[in-house]
Amino acid sequence: MRNPVRIIVGGLILAQLAGLAHAASLTEPRVGKLAGISRIVLDLPTGAGFEIEPMGAALRVTLPGQSFSAKVKKINQPELSGFTLENGSGNAILTLVTPQGVSSRSGYRETRLAAAEGKKGSRLMLDFSGAYADVTPLKPTGAFAFQKAIGTQFTAVIDPGHGGKDPGARGAVTEEPLNLEVSKRVMAQLQSAGVEVRLTRSNSGALSNDKALDLASRAAQSRGKSVFVSIHANARPAKNANKTFGTEVYFFSPTRVPNAYPSPSVPEPLRPPVTESNFFKPGEINASESIGAGIEKLGEALQLFEGSPQPVGPVPNAQILTEPNASRNEPAVTNDSNTSPAEADQLGYLPLEPTKLANSPERSLASQQLASSVLSNMLGTTASFNGGTRNADYYVIKESECPAILVEMGYVTHPVEGVQLKDSNYLDRIAYGISYGVLEYLENSLDGI
Ligand SMILES: [Zn+2]
Repeated sequence: MRNPVRIIVGGLILAQLAGLAHAASLTEPRVGKLAGISRIVLDLPTGAGFEIEPMGAALRVTLPGQSFSAKVKKINQPELSGFTLENGSGNAILTLVTPQGVSSRSGYRETRLAAAEGKKGSRLMLDFSGAYADVTPLKPTGAFAFQKAIGTQFTAVIDPGHGGKDPGARGAVTEEPLNLEVSKRVMAQLQSAGVEVRLTRSNSGALSNDKALDLASRAAQSRGKSVFVSIHANARPAKNANKTFGTEVYFFSPTRVPNAYPSPSVPEPLRPPVTESNFFKPGEINASESIGAGIEKLGEALQLFEGSPQPVGPVPNAQILTEPNASRNEPAVTNDSNTSPAEADQLGYLPLEPTKLANSPERSLASQQLASSVLSNMLGTTASFNGGTRNADYYVIKESECPAILVEMGYVTHPVEGVQLKDSNYLDRIAYGISYGVLEYLENSLDGI
């Protein structure tokens, strides 16, 4: 009688030998966690090359001539759901599934490092965060020129939020100087297109030590102007700081308006010639469009990771409705604040008498259009996370007398976004997006309100 145990043992030995004969050349990537970032480190043998492809919902790393032991690994970090390891056509293939999505300009950073001490080869480090955006130098290729509105003299009020005793939000960078810096860049770009611009403040001081008067004085400068744009950055308390990032644009409407998420729009002077295909690919953001041509396992991997954590950024349609009132930014104040005539004289612009324009549906609609145009262009120039256009009753946008928006450029408290807000290249992109959004709105809104 044959010994079944011997057969099984023999089979195991054969299987082990087969495994040795096809030993994987690469070890499984290591997974790390930093504040607001998921990190993957892959050891590479000497001379190993790789190709990285952002595919929307996943990042694929192809390593020619290498192999993995096939595996599906769930990670469950907010920025990374998991990965698959497989082999195909003589390549090792690592597919990393990210809830927030990746594009050639956003969602991840790659770094090639030397091998750990005492080891050969090198390391590929991949960091994932939905807050990673485009910080490459801006290369405008032409100036904006009005076509429909040629000859029209537009006027804009740019309002760098905070100042004086109130520095605004603090994180990797402080709002007050950041808001002023970006406002000055926006002013220069609008002026170069022929728009007359007034800054509500041009140094670190407030317009008044009295907060109510300060805000009323800012809003008062909007009378008779084409647009009012208040520039701010956002913040979250420490316990939520690593989870919240993105670009938001606020407007005021007396009636409830749902948050909207306009598509990114690349400003005309930045649009590449048709022959240049790789500057901006809006489709990359959309996972379902790009996955089709992907490896077979990818669809499987996405399904496996479906139950993993949701995006960590501001989730479309899901939040903030209760949030942006009073406490986080300028509180709403009334117009009949304690203005002394002497102080008002010094300011040179009295707070307005109430004109009830705050509740004008026409102004509200125009403000929404302005918000949408500015957010689209900002997303196009920065590739930042889309936090949407949102309705809020911040004083300066509620009480302005022309279409008015408040831009939240990003979160100074997020570990990735806060640092990006210190990067001059990124500020150029933000300013470019804001100013082109304003210019496109003006071009298309000749009738005004
Ligand atoms: Zn602010």
